[in-house]
Amino acid sequence: MARTISILGSTGSIGCNTLDVIGHMGGREAFDVVTVTGASNVRLLAEQAKTAGAKIAVTADDDSYGALKDALAGSGIEAAAGRVALIEAASRPADITMAAIVGIAGLEPTLAAVRNGGTLALANKESLVSAGHLFTRAVREAGATLLPVDSEHNAIFQVLEADSRDAVERVILTASGGPFRTYSREQMALVTVESARAHPNWSMGLKISIDSATMFNKALETIEAKYLFDLQSHQIEVLVHPQSIIHSMVGYSDGSLLAQLGPPDMRTAIGYCLAWPERVRLPVERLDFVALSRLDFEAPDEERFPSLGLARNVLETGGLSGAVLNGAKEATLEAFVAGHIGFLAMSDIVGEVMVGLSDLGEPETIGAVIDADRQARMAAGELIAASRQ
Ligand code: NDP
Ligand code: MG
Repeated sequence: MARTISILGSTGSIGCNTLDVIGHMGGREAFDVVTVTGASNVRLLAEQAKTAGAKIAVTADDDSYGALKDALAGSGIEAAAGRVALIEAASRPADITMAAIVGIAGLEPTLAAVRNGGTLALANKESLVSAGHLFTRAVREAGATLLPVDSEHNAIFQVLEADSRDAVERVILTASGGPFRTYSREQMALVTVESARAHPNWSMGLKISIDSATMFNKALETIEAKYLFDLQSHQIEVLVHPQSIIHSMVGYSDGSLLAQLGPPDMRTAIGYCLAWPERVRLPVERLDFVALSRLDFEAPDEERFPSLGLARNVLETGGLSGAVLNGAKEATLEAFVAGHIGFLAMSDIVGEVMVGLSDLGEPETIGAVIDADRQARMAAGELIAASRQ
């Protein structure tokens, strides 16, 4: 019998890959699509809804309601728009939800899906970074199954032996190092948005590509790992591995290291989550070790990539520091993309905002997380404006 699935952020990079994987798993015979959602790309959203036979398509953009309704006319598919509609659609029962909205905008819809108690395939790392304990508590309370889509965490999940959790000493998150891995600070000061978004190995959305260039992506992932796998700061290591073939590793007390390897193609991690606990056959490239001939490793450089040190701070202090880091980071990234600040200013400003908002404590509610995000954006906005005068 077909399983029901909702895809939040279906028009994005992970969303499109998810629909592709569904196609390889039997399409409509295997999956009954409940909800698809997007924001700016209404034409693609309507096309996806019709091809997949979704029950409802939601755009987060209020102003796009008319365009979406017109594009779906005669299809029998419900159209909706806006944040409230998005959360409502995300909360409709589904066996699996792919949570692939980008940024903090994904927090509330993802939590709405968690509360259904089904399987949550989590790509939206910002939910865990910003709301860590509250998020994992909601998962436990709902009895939901949380499966990580992020390739590093998916790798760790694949090699974590359920019976040996007490013997885990550390996890090693691999990082490509991004397009500026070998650049000096002086060179980084001058890079353009175009060069920052050109990831050497992975094809991804704009935001995560730039986060890879600053290594904020890896910074977010260390925090994501803490909450997903209940780890202490000293158990989480970052290792630069430019080829992105080893997706991450788990080190055990007997000296064993278990790793998951594969070509850099998100469909493997997505397929793993959709088929779990079974495995799916996918047309991804097969690794040829002789052709690869070598894998390289380097220590991460926190002087050139201060984002990693900022994340360490979050790992150690917890509370709302993750929400502050993420909110400030999203604001500075937008300013960099708009050409308002330079590349290095992103981590400088996030660091300053974190110092200014270091006393926010542990959140009791999601409202407190959203408020911390807002405060961090405002503080970052002021620093961005000041830097332009
Ligand atoms: P994209 O930018 O490609 O897609 C983002 C999706 O979110 C789109 O469907 C977009 O709609 C939608 N969206 C954008 N803004 C809003 C908003 N304000 N409210 C609701 N929906 C919105 O991102 P990715 O697919 O690259 O990434 C998605 C998530 O997965 C991120 O959290 C990222 O960190 C994580 N991730 C991504 C990986 C990758 O390989 N891409 C790997 C690991 C994690 P529209 O396009 O219509 O505007
Ligand atoms: Mg990743």
